[in-house]
Amino acid sequence: MTVNKVSVLNVNIDAVTMMQAVEMVEGFFQSSDKTRLVATANAEMVMMANEDNELNDILADADLVVADGAGVVWAARHQGDMMPERVAGFDLVQELLKKSAEKKYKVFFLGAGIGVAEQAKAKAEMKYRGVNIVGIRDGYFKPDDEENIIAIINALKPDLLLVALGVPRQEKWIKKNLEKLNVKVAIGVGGTFDVMAGNVKRAPLWMQKANLEWSYRLFLQPQRIFRMMAIPKFMLKVMLGKKD
Ligand code: UDP
Repeated sequence: MTVNKVSVLNVNIDAVTMMQAVEMVEGFFQSSDKTRLVATANAEMVMMANEDNELNDILADADLVVADGAGVVWAARHQGDMMPERVAGFDLVQELLKKSAEKKYKVFFLGAGIGVAEQAKAKAEMKYRGVNIVGIRDGYFKPDDEENIIAIINALKPDLLLVALGVPRQEKWIKKNLEKLNVKVAIGVGGTFDVMAGNVKRAPLWMQKANLEWSYRLFLQPQRIFRMMAIPKFMLKVMLGKKD
């Protein structure tokens, strides 16, 4: 599949639909040459990448970067580029779990607080009958535990490793361990397990459709105000057409 890339403040985003993104990830499951890194970019991540060279390089090298946030879709279209739709990381994960139930792809959940990945797994097993979640591990480990965690993951040979350590830690963790990991695809999934476990709510669908999901997130987690200040800055930078 040839995919058009759209540069949003110097971060290349793949112009794909949800269906195409799922198809691409399934294609990565079939190929055996290397571990693929998938990132889900929103305005905060793009702004962070503008300041953080390591994150910027990771996104530039990523095998797939989807438009996770409404802000990124808006920015692409504002520039006159084609961006078919928002591909929210949470929704992408749900679609891949459905595929796992159908085709038995092996999935490993790494990250979030103690017990959260476990609860997310239990909920997924009820929702997607036959989903093949082969292992879980919380995200509050010491650097000394890392080798052991990677050995556990590798022994299970998952097709898909979901890493929920927050941005940009999860992307940096995946990149650092890319060569050591015996998995087909690794995706940084942020708060996905918290939502799946039922600890954090996603905005109602009408708010998602009205591009207001960010405001609901702010309402539920007001402590995010400082990091969310990146959103108006992002919009301003896009409108001023800065390409630095
Ligand atoms: N997290 C973790 N280990 C850490 C820091 C964070 O497992 O050392 C988890 C945290 O519990 C949460 C997720 O990473 O489940 C980050 O969620 P958030 O909604 O903040 O994601 P972001 O907006 O950064 O993508």
